[in-house]
Amino acid sequence: MLEALRSIVQAVNSAGNLQAALDIIVSRIAEVMGTEVCTVYLRDPESGRLIFMANQGLNPELIGKISLGPDEGLVGQVARREEPVNLDHAEKHPNFLYLPGIGEEQYHSFLGAPIIHQRTVMGVLVVQQKDSRRFDEDEEAFLVTMSAQLAGVIAHARATGSITTSQNVVGATASFKGIAGATGVAIGRAVIVAPVADLHSVPRRQSDDPQLELQAFQSALSAVRTDIHALSEKLLTHLPADEHALFDVYLRIIDDGSWAAEVVKKINEGEWAQGALSQVMSSHIRTFEMMEDAYFKERATDIKDLGRRVLAYLQTSEVEPAEYPDKTILVGEELTASMLGEVPREKLVGMVSVRGSSNSHVAILARAMGIPTVMGAADLPYTQIENANLIVDGYSGYVHYNPSAEVYEHFRSVSEEDQVLTQGLEALRDLPSETLDGHRMPLWVNTGLMADVARSLDRGAEGVGLYRTEIPFLLRERFPSEEEQRAIYREQLIAFAPLPVTMRTLDIGGDKALPYFPIEEENPFLGWRGIRVTLDHPEIFLVQVRAMLKASEGLNNLRIMLPMISNVQEVDEALDLVRRAYDELIEDGWDITLPPIGVMVEVPAAVYQARQLARRVDFLSVGSNDLTQYLLAVDRNNTRVADLYHAYHPAVLNSLQQVVDAAHAEGKPVGICGELAGDPAAVLLLMAMGYDMLSMNDNSLLRVKAVIRSCRFDELQALLNSAMLVETADEVKALLRKVMIDIGMERLLQPIGA
Ligand code: PEP
Ligand code: MG
Repeated sequence: MLEALRSIVQAVNSAGNLQAALDIIVSRIAEVMGTEVCTVYLRDPESGRLIFMANQGLNPELIGKISLGPDEGLVGQVARREEPVNLDHAEKHPNFLYLPGIGEEQYHSFLGAPIIHQRTVMGVLVVQQKDSRRFDEDEEAFLVTMSAQLAGVIAHARATGSITTSQNVVGATASFKGIAGATGVAIGRAVIVAPVADLHSVPRRQSDDPQLELQAFQSALSAVRTDIHALSEKLLTHLPADEHALFDVYLRIIDDGSWAAEVVKKINEGEWAQGALSQVMSSHIRTFEMMEDAYFKERATDIKDLGRRVLAYLQTSEVEPAEYPDKTILVGEELTASMLGEVPREKLVGMVSVRGSSNSHVAILARAMGIPTVMGAADLPYTQIENANLIVDGYSGYVHYNPSAEVYEHFRSVSEEDQVLTQGLEALRDLPSETLDGHRMPLWVNTGLMADVARSLDRGAEGVGLYRTEIPFLLRERFPSEEEQRAIYREQLIAFAPLPVTMRTLDIGGDKALPYFPIEEENPFLGWRGIRVTLDHPEIFLVQVRAMLKASEGLNNLRIMLPMISNVQEVDEALDLVRRAYDELIEDGWDITLPPIGVMVEVPAAVYQARQLARRVDFLSVGSNDLTQYLLAVDRNNTRVADLYHAYHPAVLNSLQQVVDAAHAEGKPVGICGELAGDPAAVLLLMAMGYDMLSMNDNSLLRVKAVIRSCRFDELQALLNSAMLVETADEVKALLRKVMIDIGMERLLQPIGA
């Protein structure tokens, strides 16, 4: 059964469009279950009617032409109740409805299962048979499993189909739902970025010169042939004959001209070489993967490997001088900080990532740089939209493909309003960050790139609450040397002096992998991350701390902060290392002072030990991004659970209050440097809780200041008390929304944090 399930899902995945997918479903399920009839009814989202969309065994002429209302028939019952119906005499059931012309009369037994994707009924899957018998438990379980597996595929094919089936229709438009990553609206052109040698994410593109593409393909192929020969020679004496025969298989695949001829044909039809290779190879891989025979199944892996090798050569030979159009909207399956870094800032207006969530690091970077971004647009057929006109709505998380004139006009005016708002906020730059009744609230910034510095100072930042040192590490090909680090850090310290700069020691692991220091783990967010890595590699930690200390000479505005602390021993060990580095530098004659040292509270254990931690250091700073993900057990990058990531969750708010109380009980200041600190509405609660400092990306700074200057501190405690009494994040959100409206700040409400 498992094998049958897998092969049906694979076959459906490889279908070119929604109808082909549905046709495969009905014919394969009828075959595997041995039933005479199999039908898929799809629910029309607008009318709610269940349309007879694909069928095996009934009247094919009615496909797409008849439908049932949500209250009609057994099919309607399955959809309405969201549960299977299994009957041996369907015609005797009170809900049975006879559809004339369909040819159902002779079928007595009926088994229907709902197709549900993300809590929404997409349709109903039905099998029927002539003889009156109840389908047994195994059959029912099979159909339910099948429809659960197929729901995502059908949803994806349906969304994708909005582009693929209408590609040739001038003016076809479509919208795709994702997650708001960075606020704002971007109107521009899609530029697709793909990781190296990934067959699956090569964009479709028309070539200007098929001859050139053919040559590139032929030489890539012969380069791979040479490589395989060389590999084969090299391993000749080390491998037993059986294993060595693998190379002959590879060479036979290369020399078998049939697939290469298909690639050539596609190139001649105008597709570029990489696109032609990826389409042909992907279809062959799918064919082999679906074969029952284990030997042939294995060949799929060989073909994939060969395809990747040829693609890698094509990608190096076809490196075009990366030319980005004005108003580039960067689109990719999984955007990374380095992909972002390659586009000149003045050309980049927006970003869309098919994977990830609003707290992925690339989204944080996008917010810091003020680039409207949508994350987790899972259904976007991104390889097919190169050069398309797109609108990125970073407020609601929608991507609009080839928008209509009205949609375009709407977003153009939103974008203009944004500009007016931003200009209006500029007036606050030199005004103090204080409430109407005179309560001061220091606003600091989070930085990582040198480019952040000028903007931050320009917007009146009073210090740096979090300098993410891993960013300069991410943009290099090896660990930066002590001297290189010293120079980078000194630039930051000088730019802000005499204002304080909080440098966090290297926080890699989780979703921040250095290309030259890969950490491969099953569960990276619970693995070797942050302080755990650097304590295991004191040489990396010491070099970094020495570089920071040296950089601070004569400036004395450095603060050091430790990430991912989950127990007091880690703090003690790190403090020892910092003191050791400091003593050595003093011995060497450096004129430096020991900087204040702080701990990030971003793991639930640190909340419960906040007093013990505060006692050991000079300050605490809450990393609400990680604290939220760890408290709620919601991966901050996972699109599927993004709806559960609520920084307004009462458990998170309680923890935030607990940390303030613990730090203050030890007489230590406490700040917050997660994204929540830059959420203008959440700031009302954070101030009432007693946070001494808020650190945010510089784009949020003036928005937050506008809110602070519009509220009365003496009224916030009552708001906090109410927020602490409610039981859900939505209620907290509603409370904040009301206050924001009351103080005239509704326009600044943003989706982050709720
Ligand atoms: C946090 O976790 O809130 C934080 C500020 O650190 P980062 O987002 O870099 O993990
Ligand atoms: Mg963190």
